[in-house]
Amino acid sequence: MEYSENILGTIGNTPLVKNNNLTVDLPCLVLDKYETLNPGKSVKDRMALKMIEDAEATGKLKPGGTIIEGTSGNTGMGLALAAIIKGYKCIFVISDKQSKEKIDVLKAMGAEVVVCPTEVEPDDPRSYYSVSKRMATEIPNSWYVNQYDNLSNTAAHYESTGPEIWKQTDGKITHFVVGVGTGGTISGVGKYLKEQNPNIKVWGVDTYGSVFKKYHETGIFDKNEIYPYITEGIGEDILPKNVDFDLIDGFTKVTDRDAAIYTRRLAREEGMFLGNSAGAAIKGVLQLKEHFKENDVVVVLFHDHGSRYVGKMFNDEWMKEKGFL
Ligand code: PMP
Repeated sequence: MEYSENILGTIGNTPLVKNNNLTVDLPCLVLDKYETLNPGKSVKDRMALKMIEDAEATGKLKPGGTIIEGTSGNTGMGLALAAIIKGYKCIFVISDKQSKEKIDVLKAMGAEVVVCPTEVEPDDPRSYYSVSKRMATEIPNSWYVNQYDNLSNTAAHYESTGPEIWKQTDGKITHFVVGVGTGGTISGVGKYLKEQNPNIKVWGVDTYGSVFKKYHETGIFDKNEIYPYITEGIGEDILPKNVDFDLIDGFTKVTDRDAAIYTRRLAREEGMFLGNSAGAAIKGVLQLKEHFKENDVVVVLFHDHGSRYVGKMFNDEWMKEKGFL
């Protein structure tokens, strides 16, 4: 018989799928790392489990404890899965920009969800960064995960996602392209791949309204780059410790409109029902076209599943309201 002891045993070992139609004009092979096939339907299951295991090992998370995190949904889902199996409580602090579906799903997984305003500074006491930190000091036997600065996030991808991609491409990968939020995915995968072959290029996909691209190019943290945007999961108004800028060869910024349109195109032209950052990532690949040659093998990572965006990018009324259709 072949089975997992529990749902956590099904995390990882996701397939690579050839991208056929959207990237037909590129000279190279484009392979999609299909992370939506994780049990929580996103790549975040990997780092959520690793952060919990490391916190248990260092005594930060104790039996019966409460896990507190500011999460846009996917990390929450991963933490909730692991918490159910391991017997912890979860409180998630989420910004009001996030889709209602994401909040309902977290509640379905037994978590308490606290919603905070998006349009306040990170150090404002109402921001989801501040609220989650405060709750962690007030609630006894609680542990504040902090996926932005918790380096177990990067370590998860260094130990699992990176080696999988290397093995699945038989070491032939030449470029890795991925959206950057906390930075865990790009830094962990990027570090592993560059250790195997320092010639592999690592490209980050950023949003307009985020500080990453300018910071990478100039070393300047420019507050004027920051404004509210629609794309979910990528871009930041802070510099998370998990973003290792030295490993990244370059960033490309994708507009909210393009990210939304390409999310829909992935569904209709590739049969891939994916989240909004997948649309940004594949548009990022197209924008980086000049860097790719014949025989190159480009791997692009798709973070999460389309079901979380049915009221948004997959809804015609919403698309029209935003001026995207
Ligand atoms: N896409 C989605 C949908 C996400 O939830 C995240 C995590 N914020 C990312 C992309 C970015 O991944 P990372 O945090 O590892 O940089």
